Amino acid sequence: MKVAKVIVDVPTSQTNHTFDYIIPADYEEFAQKGMRVSVPFGPRKVMGFIVDITNDSDFDQLKPIDQMMDITPVLTEELIQVGIWLAEQTVSFYIQAFQAMLPQVLKAKYKKEIEALTDVELSPQIQQLLDGRAVMDFEEFEQRKGNYQALLKEIKAGHVKMNYKVQSKETKKRLVFIEPNVEPYLIEEALVDMKSNAKKQRAILEYFITHPEPIEQRLLMEKLNTTTSTVKSLIQKHLLRKKEQLVYRNPYDDDAIQPTSPLPLSTQQQQAIEPVNEAVDRENHHVFLLHGVTGSGKTEVYLQAIEKVLMKGQEAIVLVPEIALTPQMVHRFKGRFGSDVAALHSALSPGEKFDEWTKIHNNEVKVVVGARSAIFAPFENIGIIIIDEEHETSYKQDEQPRYHAREVAKKRAEFHQCPVILGSATPLLESYARAQRGVYQLLEMPERMNDVPMPPVELVDLRDELHAGNRTMFSRKLLDEIRDRIQRNEQIVLFLNRRGYSTFVMCRECGDVMKCPNCDIALTYHKSHHQLKCHYCDYHIAMVSECQACGSDTIRYFGTGTQKVEESLKEVLPEAGIIRMDVDTTRRKGAHEKLLDRFGQKKADILLGTQMIAKGLDFENVTLVGVLAVDAMLHIPDFRSAEKTFQLLTQVSGRAGRHQLPGKVIIQTYSPEHYSIQLASQYDYQSFFQQEMQTRKAFHYPPYYFLSLLTVSHPNQVKVMEVTKMIRKLLGKHLSDQATILGPTPSPIVRINNRYRYQCMIKYRHEPNQRMIIRKILQHYHEEIQQHDLRIQVDFEPYQLM
Ligand code: ADP
Ligand code: ZN
Ligand code: ZN
Repeated sequence: MKVAKVIVDVPTSQTNHTFDYIIPADYEEFAQKGMRVSVPFGPRKVMGFIVDITNDSDFDQLKPIDQMMDITPVLTEELIQVGIWLAEQTVSFYIQAFQAMLPQVLKAKYKKEIEALTDVELSPQIQQLLDGRAVMDFEEFEQRKGNYQALLKEIKAGHVKMNYKVQSKETKKRLVFIEPNVEPYLIEEALVDMKSNAKKQRAILEYFITHPEPIEQRLLMEKLNTTTSTVKSLIQKHLLRKKEQLVYRNPYDDDAIQPTSPLPLSTQQQQAIEPVNEAVDRENHHVFLLHGVTGSGKTEVYLQAIEKVLMKGQEAIVLVPEIALTPQMVHRFKGRFGSDVAALHSALSPGEKFDEWTKIHNNEVKVVVGARSAIFAPFENIGIIIIDEEHETSYKQDEQPRYHAREVAKKRAEFHQCPVILGSATPLLESYARAQRGVYQLLEMPERMNDVPMPPVELVDLRDELHAGNRTMFSRKLLDEIRDRIQRNEQIVLFLNRRGYSTFVMCRECGDVMKCPNCDIALTYHKSHHQLKCHYCDYHIAMVSECQACGSDTIRYFGTGTQKVEESLKEVLPEAGIIRMDVDTTRRKGAHEKLLDRFGQKKADILLGTQMIAKGLDFENVTLVGVLAVDAMLHIPDFRSAEKTFQLLTQVSGRAGRHQLPGKVIIQTYSPEHYSIQLASQYDYQSFFQQEMQTRKAFHYPPYYFLSLLTVSHPNQVKVMEVTKMIRKLLGKHLSDQATILGPTPSPIVRINNRYRYQCMIKYRHEPNQRMIIRKILQHYHEEIQQHDLRIQVDFEPYQLM
């Protein structure tokens, strides 16, 4: 008898362990670890992952597995281990960890089918089932009791493959084409016979006489201003026919990508790559911190390190923050490694992501470039893992399992015995501190390529502007410089750390700020819909004209959004061409790329945008970068706000003067004396590191201390406070004396979606039992979590303190 140990898709404390199931004889040879199965669980059938297979069980009366959901494992043995480790590290359920490692589509509804790939003689069992067809449903295979071993053999031989067909429209696009159904002369004849008042039908026939090739129905209708019913009547007359075509939607136009070859490395690049290459050769799981200023050529170092790995027959994972995962970035990897590259990021539809994942799973690619979850790429022979812009907070997942891609990278590197490169112009304080202690090996690239100097940064004090009577959001200095650039036909990037038309709405009479009734957070005015919206929940109302508190009509927008900046800019600089890039203008797929292309083709003078323009862009004609107001960032309630401001200013500055033309940066602020602004303007990472480390030490923050954040939420405020107090007490009792426990305090946003939120923060240096204690606390509240809507979130080393 063979027994499968299965982690079932029932995410509760009580079910967070393996359950034993008998593997039916039919599946015995074929079932493997890492496959998904459907198993009976109480009255239901649930999905589960086989994590182990044994010959016996400690339990009697085992139930059999109901159905196999995969033909080949979706998780490698290594990834199963990573998943178990991940769940333990983040105090999540095993099932959550496994789900996080797989593409979304594998959770959705889909159909499996078997497709014969060749004309080779297949084994009789399979041949008989297919019965001349190229494709059959897997369901039919199961119903007719197909032979799994025979199938598996054909798959391994490459004669047959399994297709997962997602039943959502998003995955593949089905285009309808119309084409002539008869010879051209017959169409001409039909035209002659057609009544002269059938104008629309005649127009279509005329069109096909000159254009006999198939055309997409949508296009045809647009072109001839005609309707489906007109097209239909011609189809009914057998003159035209419809043809459906599935198109694989490749978001990148691969043909347009210019192949590149390795550049001769500069001295500093050479010095940086040598230890990496050595680690690749020696199969050493070293972590390197590549501290290279923007434009120092880090990407070329990555590319050449990967090339070496590929030559060894190994694979590479490259992580890029979501926001920097621009088509430009992907092109750099596809340009060097062509079709060996898969790209995984959130702009892809679930089906497209799945297609990319499948290429990795089928060993059709060697390199994956992707956002956070690409760290789980199911490669089996990884030779290097690279995390670019390692300081980015998007590498931390903000829902369970709350993992950091860097830690997963280290774990996988240990297994594969391969190096990890963490690259950044502004490494996270924690990383740089580790490099200083020798935990990571530091590689420095302080010079820009071709000795292009970093652009000089000028700080403009906005208080002086106000005193001088300038009430616009553009200082005189900035406007002068913009005009100057426009005159010289050079381009400008303006950066604003906001979105929407305007941040909040306030009454000047009584000071009342319009807030979301669910979240206790200021509503944002959105001009396009003339609405006030909450950014944390779905709440929105029409813009008000009177104060809700005092009835005064002196309601005013405060703060600045990209839309408002765009409008004011048009007023003061009517001659300027502006491209605005923010969440609102880039929502539609491909919009991001289009806007950047237009800017790259110099179709506008100014690129105005939020965070998303801060990174990775490389336009040679940009000689001026303006930061409109950096202060909002400085004052977020987060101990990292100074560091984040420093990082952001450095990144933004790196956008100017990257090539021949010299660049310049202007930063507008109400607090020019702040050290992070001062030191960012001098590109002085070292001094910033020293100074910030002192603050962290004084206030017991990372990297001197670790943090864990527990957030409790419930619709009833008293309940939340009670539970949080109790948790604090339990933590105090079981953690060591060295740990500091802060709280309970209301979270910075006390209420989200009608749930009150309170938190406890643990500051500690060494608490080996912490995770076990927290798991016990969660188990203690198991029933209230399951049945009474209580939520307890645990976040180790949090990046989001809201
Ligand atoms: P970073 O990633 O450090 O910001 P990039 O990799 O974007 O820097 O490099 C900056 C510029 O220098 C790019 O245009 C790149 O093509 C160029 N570059 C990088 N390495 C070399 C090299 N060895 N020789 C010539 N040009 C290079
Ligand atoms: Zn008022
Ligand atoms: Zn809200």
